[in-house]
Amino acid sequence: MKTITTGHELALQWDTARRSGAVIGYVPTMGALHEGHLSLVDRAREECDVVICSIFVNPLQFGPNEDFESYPRPVEHDLGLLEARDTDIAFLPGWTEIFPRRERTLEDFGTHVSVPRLSHQLCGRSRAGHFDGMVTESLLFLNLVRPDRTYWGEKDFQQLRIIETLVGNLRLPVTVVRGATKREPDGLAMSSRNKNLSPQARALSPNLRRILQEARARLLDGGSLPAVLDTAREQLTGLGFAVEYLVACEEDSLSEVSVLEGPFPVRLFAAAALHGVRLLDNIPVTEVARG
Ligand code: AMP
Repeated sequence: MKTITTGHELALQWDTARRSGAVIGYVPTMGALHEGHLSLVDRAREECDVVICSIFVNPLQFGPNEDFESYPRPVEHDLGLLEARDTDIAFLPGWTEIFPRRERTLEDFGTHVSVPRLSHQLCGRSRAGHFDGMVTESLLFLNLVRPDRTYWGEKDFQQLRIIETLVGNLRLPVTVVRGATKREPDGLAMSSRNKNLSPQARALSPNLRRILQEARARLLDGGSLPAVLDTAREQLTGLGFAVEYLVACEEDSLSEVSVLEGPFPVRLFAAAALHGVRLLDNIPVTEVARG
C-alpha cells in the first residue's frame, strides 16, 4: 500500500494506473475506520483494479460548536486496517494541502456547490451548512482522485442521496455505489462516534434500530403512519433518547410522507442522542428485502 499526502503524487499514480487501463475505485472517509468503512473498501476491492481510500476530516462540514478538533484521528491504526484489506493507495492529505489558507468554513473557502432540495430536511435541520460543506469537499476530492467508481454507505442515507444527485445532475463521470449499513452484532449501526458512548449508553443504543424495526412491522401490518411514529418516538424518549427526528421519507426525494400508499419506496429515518452522543439510523419500509 502506498501512502500519499499530496494531490500531485496522487495524479502521478493516477496516470500510471490509467495507462494500464485500470478501473479506479474510491472510498472517501474521515478515518477512525471500522467495519462499515472497510466493507466499502472490500466492495471496491472486488470491483476495481486500483483501490484508493482517503482519510480527511473535512472542516467545512463541521459547525462552529461541533467536534472538528476532537474528531478521532487514529492514523497509524487506520493505515494498518487499510493495508490488511489490500488497499492500494491511502490518500491522507493535510488540512493545508486541500485548503491552503486553512479554510475552516465555506465562507472562508469562497466556493461551494449545493444540493438544496435534499439538504435542508432530516440532519440538515439541526446541522445548517453541513451538507453544503460535505458536498463541496466531496466534489473537490472526486476531482483530485478521478475514480471510475466511488463507494458510499447507506448508513448516511441523506449524504448518499446528495452525492448521487450531485453526480447525476452535474454529469460527473463516476458511478456511485451504495454499500449496506454494517452493524454490531446487537444491531447498532457502526459509526466512528460510537466510541464516545458510555457503557450505559452503549447498552441502550441498539434500541434505536429495534424500535425502527418494530415500527416497520406495525406499518406493514397496516398501522397508521402518524400513530406508529408517535409510539416509536415515545418509546425512545422513555428509554432516555433525545429524539431529534423520527420520520418516514421517500427514498429518492427524502420528502416526508404521512401515508405509505405512494408509488415510491419509503424509509424510516431517525436521529437521536444518548447522553449527548448523536446516533443516526435508517431502514427501508416498503422494500423489506433490502433491510
Ligand atoms: P465517515 O468516515 O463517517 O465520513 O464515513 C465514510 C463512509 O463510510 C461514508 O460513505 C459512510 O456512509 C460510510 N459508513 C460509515 N458508517 C458505515 C456503516 N456502519 N456501514 C456502512 N457504511 C458506513
